Amino acid sequence: MPRPIEALIHTQAIAHNLARARAHAPDAQVWAVVKANAYGHGIANTFDAMRSADGFALLDFAEAQLLRELGWRGPILLLEGCFEARDLELCSRLKLWHAVHSEQQIDWLAMHKTHEPHRVFLKLNSGMNRLGFTPQNFRAAWTRLNALPQVDEISLMTHFSDADGDRLGACGIAEQLANFERVTADLPGECSLSNSAAILRHSEALRSDWVRSGIMTYGGVPDFPVHDQQHWDLRPAMTLRSKIIGVQQLQAGDTVGYGSSFTADKPMRIGVVACGYADGYPRHCPTGTPVLVEGVRSTTVGRVSMDMLAVDLTDLPRAGLGSEVTLWGQGPKGQVLPIDEVAHAAQTIGYELMCALAPRVPVTVERSD
Ligand SMILES: *Cc1c(COP(=O)(O)O)cnc(C)c1O
Repeated sequence: MPRPIEALIHTQAIAHNLARARAHAPDAQVWAVVKANAYGHGIANTFDAMRSADGFALLDFAEAQLLRELGWRGPILLLEGCFEARDLELCSRLKLWHAVHSEQQIDWLAMHKTHEPHRVFLKLNSGMNRLGFTPQNFRAAWTRLNALPQVDEISLMTHFSDADGDRLGACGIAEQLANFERVTADLPGECSLSNSAAILRHSEALRSDWVRSGIMTYGGVPDFPVHDQQHWDLRPAMTLRSKIIGVQQLQAGDTVGYGSSFTADKPMRIGVVACGYADGYPRHCPTGTPVLVEGVRSTTVGRVSMDMLAVDLTDLPRAGLGSEVTLWGQGPKGQVLPIDEVAHAAQTIGYELMCALAPRVPVTVERSD
């Protein structure tokens, strides 16, 4: 028998979550954001479930090529645009739309030989200070692009730093939105503003012709713990599960795991699960991190090691060798352990856990669940 750990990808959950994005932004076209191999879920695994999207947004040419090979003929957007001049040849060949966020990218376009002009998304740095033209330089960039025969339609794009937070006032989404509206007011073209947090929280307040549904597509909650997946009606698209391969009976004073960081203060029974940080389970999860044992909530005990972690079975007398343990996602009887809860325990976000699922974990795609 192989090591009992596996990841399940729930395609119906993905289709459901994308439909939630559409419900929040009914007048917008929806990009399914599939960068980082669909946030760790696998582009090939999830493609069928995402066919209702209007387009796919990503960063890597290999992922764009894979989508074309899977038969996708619709829009594909490169969120960071090109990284060198000859990338534009791939854009022409694969018919990719691409973000333009720097003068250098415009220089490359001006030198590019193509029969078909490209659709580009001109990016404004509205305050996040990651990619994009400043409000001062944006219009000059637009004018330059607009004069190029290599360029077809110019769309307008920005990314919010605080769509998930409560900073609605100065420095928050309101100021960034105001910057965007001021700079683009009389420019033609479609706009793309919203990530998942903005789709869920701010769809009434802003117009985004193309919304970019990332984490919510996979059932992750961008504003956890303020809201949870039940509040937003999102379903987990990934389950990480394994089994108990060892059981230990502890007396008061016994310790568990590396560094003996946990000491039992009473007799306890613990199960040792075939899952560790080399599978993508965060080592930073402290004692007390939630898990499901045969669908019942329990907690981790002691430090997570490379290949194993321990869980408390004291109140679960029927659990033992071979019991199924859900590390995150959907339990055996439909219970849910949100990835956001586990991420929170590790002081990170669900995004990081999904993306860090290790290659050694076998993945099964569940086409009906
Ligand atoms: C990753 C990304 C998104 C998606 O963000 P989520 O928070 O996962 O919805 C949207 N826009 C850009 C530019 C991104 O890089």
